Amino acid sequence: MQSHHGYNNRDRFRCPFCDKIFDRAVGWHRHVKTHSRVKPYRCGFCEYRSVKRYNIMCHMKKLHKPDATYNDIVKDAEFDYGVPIEEININKFVIGGDT
Ligand SMILES: [Zn+2]
Ligand SMILES: [Zn+2]
Repeated sequence: MQSHHGYNNRDRFRCPFCDKIFDRAVGWHRHVKTHSRVKPYRCGFCEYRSVKRYNIMCHMKKLHKPDATYNDIVKDAEFDYGVPIEEININKFVIGGDT
């Protein structure tokens, strides 16, 4: 049976971030969303982190360097997912089931 999302109920899904496997799309979505809570940006002067660069800028200007720029922000490569979770197409991570 094909759902309107285009994937099969028996298909399995792989997490694009940590390679966990899920039997159901519901579980996949719930899990992948947890990755969106990761804070990829870090202050270049201390361990302060945030999901938003803007927050880091405010933090740096206030505490470390009034003329801080985006170059002072550290971005962890391992958290460089590039796309918002909402824009990830689950169909790309279907492993396939026994059809
Ligand atoms: Zn994952
Ligand atoms: Zn700081």
